[in-house]
Amino acid sequence: MASISFQNIEKHFDTAQAVADFNLDIADGEFVVLVGPSGCGKTTSLRMLAGLEQPTGGKIHLDGQDITHVPSKSRALAMVFQSYALYPHMTVAENISFALSLQKMPKAQIAPRVQEAAALLGIEHLLDRKPRALSGGQRQRAAVARAIIRNPKAFLFDEPLSNLDAKLRHSARVEIRKLQQKLGTTTVYVTHDQIEAMTMADRIVVMEGGCIRQVGTPMELYRRPNSTFVAAFLGSPPTNFITGQCIHENGRAQFVNGRMTIPLNPGIASGAVTLGIRPEHVSPKHAAPDQIRMTGGVRFVEALGAETLIDIDLGQAQNASQTLTARLAGQHDLAPGSRLEIGFSPRDSMLFDAKGDAVPN
Ligand code: ATP
Repeated sequence: MASISFQNIEKHFDTAQAVADFNLDIADGEFVVLVGPSGCGKTTSLRMLAGLEQPTGGKIHLDGQDITHVPSKSRALAMVFQSYALYPHMTVAENISFALSLQKMPKAQIAPRVQEAAALLGIEHLLDRKPRALSGGQRQRAAVARAIIRNPKAFLFDEPLSNLDAKLRHSARVEIRKLQQKLGTTTVYVTHDQIEAMTMADRIVVMEGGCIRQVGTPMELYRRPNSTFVAAFLGSPPTNFITGQCIHENGRAQFVNGRMTIPLNPGIASGAVTLGIRPEHVSPKHAAPDQIRMTGGVRFVEALGAETLIDIDLGQAQNASQTLTARLAGQHDLAPGSRLEIGFSPRDSMLFDAKGDAVPN
């Protein structure tokens, strides 16, 4: 097990900057997820930690030791790739034991370790099969077994679940998280899937354009995103954004051409602002006296059984239609075109300035 530290890491490919000013300390035993849209630099960051890419600038420390120029095979890190990278001509047992065989470990010592790793992943019955005779989920487990058998200082995962269907992805993420908690091994996990990030991470690192946008626990990032980018990226359906104006005369910010106003912190500068409201905070119930309420037109209803998603048109403002998605528990029989009064508490809303940075309100 090990702590990991990225210090001012940069990576250029020719003239293009893939990662910039990347600073991150990962504690021993921590499960950190790098998340962000395609091309934001998360795989490149992981590959630099693995030693598969050389940083253009900065240093990487593993347990306090500078490993920036240490070859990949000497870093004692185990990586699980999106493709799993299993050797097709080897059996599952041979794949799992490959790294130990390379280290010339005696066969009598390797066999029980293969059994132990296979048992942890529930694939003992598959040890004699070749990878082509495995399902996607079984291959994924074989790849994880191959990683854990080396007893590495840290696990590095690069989108390990993206080839699985939705149901298997759910069970596999629970399995990986449980396994990591059992072994206590420091883990860095790359995904573009915000649900994986929210459910697996001790801490999430949200990246955009090669840079870290915010680092925190899933709930810190969910409750206090520092920008519209983070607020939009985490949560499904995504955060509702409504554009408006801060007008201090009456101590309120106005939205939807003044049809909706919220109380304003006097420290906030006048001008354009964006209000963020999570779909689960929009409710037709008049639940609290401080609720901001308004009426809109139902545009679209998605009945998911346990919950209902409703798109509500609040009308035109700033040359755009202002819509809100409400996420309501249970079933709601609402016809498109009907009028619906909804409300939310200002305490649940988020305010962002014209640049998209959060402003405390
Ligand atoms: P994805 O989720 O699509 O895998 P990512 O966030 O992991 O994306 P990276 O693969 O790290 O992003 O890529 C970051 C940037 O660096 C992208 O613009 C990509 O095109 C570029 N890049 C990555 N590898 C190379 C390379 N070998 N040569 C040139 N450019 C590269």
